[in-house]
Amino acid sequence: MNSSVYSNDISEVVEADRAHLWHHLIQHKPFETSDPRVIVEGKGMRVWDAKGKELLDAVSGGVWTVNVGYGRESIAKAVYDQLIKVNYFANSAGSIPGSIFAKRLIEKMPGMSRVYYTNSGSEANEKAFKMIRQIAHKRYGGKKHKILYRDRDYHGATIATMSAGGQDERNAQYGPFVPGFVKVPHCLEYRKQWDVANYGERAADAIEEVILREGPDTIGALCLEPVTAGGGVITPPEGYWERVQEICKKYEILLHIDEVVCGVGRTGTWFGYQHYGIKPDFVTMAKGVASGYAAIACMVTTEAVFEMFKDDASDPMNYFRDISTFGGCTAGPAAAIENMRIIEDEGLLENTVKMGERTMNNLRALMDKHRVIGDVRGKGLFCGAELVADRATKEPADEKKVQAVVAECAAQGVLIGATNRSLPGFNNTLCLSPALIATADDIDQITGAIDKALTKVFS
Ligand code: PMP
Repeated sequence: MNSSVYSNDISEVVEADRAHLWHHLIQHKPFETSDPRVIVEGKGMRVWDAKGKELLDAVSGGVWTVNVGYGRESIAKAVYDQLIKVNYFANSAGSIPGSIFAKRLIEKMPGMSRVYYTNSGSEANEKAFKMIRQIAHKRYGGKKHKILYRDRDYHGATIATMSAGGQDERNAQYGPFVPGFVKVPHCLEYRKQWDVANYGERAADAIEEVILREGPDTIGALCLEPVTAGGGVITPPEGYWERVQEICKKYEILLHIDEVVCGVGRTGTWFGYQHYGIKPDFVTMAKGVASGYAAIACMVTTEAVFEMFKDDASDPMNYFRDISTFGGCTAGPAAAIENMRIIEDEGLLENTVKMGERTMNNLRALMDKHRVIGDVRGKGLFCGAELVADRATKEPADEKKVQAVVAECAAQGVLIGATNRSLPGFNNTLCLSPALIATADDIDQITGAIDKALTKVFS
């Protein structure tokens, strides 16, 4: 990339950043002595920063988002064409891309039927929570209103989604939270909570124990990620989901699957839940829906749920009286239609399975070489390597060293992530989620950088 065009005026950008930008997720103190990272261009798997440094992006825009890679002119064109036709009308009216994307999406989700557009993953989850609460009022006199969420899962940054947030370290300073959310144990087998052979069933039974403790007639829904993302890349143990599904059926509990990370190809199927034969009542999605080319998120539900709200003769105002203003932007579904076409036409689900296997094989090979890797987990192009100080005790690796591995990879030109930086036991998983277009060479470059970084930091 020719970066000279930026280097002339980039100092103004950096100063404006320092003076006025409040970045997400990170502390700002380091910018007193070093420049913030400014990304100025992206193409395929790679981005360039303001200093002209080329970076192979193994985290799809930092947070598992750019599933089809950077620089997709066809998406930009689809958005442009739509915007000059009509950019917006409130979603109380329909739009051409809104309707067409809904139809295409539902074709990928047998059993589901209705699409509700929102701005963000958090907001999509909020919409599902609101529907679940309203169903409790409609059907159960308000009693069956509690929503179960799982330790280590994440559902968003708003107060209600944080009330369903299983990463305590993120929540500590924002209480009090919304009542009616109840935590169930995580299912990470590597950090066993029960010493049994059938771990998946046992972890699911722990959900039933919470239901019985709280009273099944108070529990309206269970909200879970199919594979826990930021909480530590936690793949479910065998038998887990089958049992979870049985439990939901037994106690008439609605199942809300959060596909904000796993959705739209990330794990090698259209949706993560489709690996496990799950029949959800609500599915929420965001990041990969339009790969970040436009802001769009969706809450998807079944015809049975829709019917409950369509026409309530006993109370004509008892429909879903909710709006998301920017859920009426047409750029989102226009981008999403083209995003989906690319995934299909370029065979990106198949590529994700293949490259995911390569990533896991490479990580397993690194495990033989580096004792600091305690566990590797993953599904499709969504993989993690948990770093431990001691394999026998599984004591987590020093958080500063985990961060040093991330920084060393960046110095080598590869952006990787690490989960949750402040909770002992879960701050130590290196995280990979490259775009679904990754090639074998890209994967080898990513794991090669990790290999060198581990050697440098831990020897
Ligand atoms: N659910 C999951 C599983 C997520 O990872 C995220 C975002 N990291 C969200 C919900 C919230 O999405 P958003 O940031 O778009 O609100």
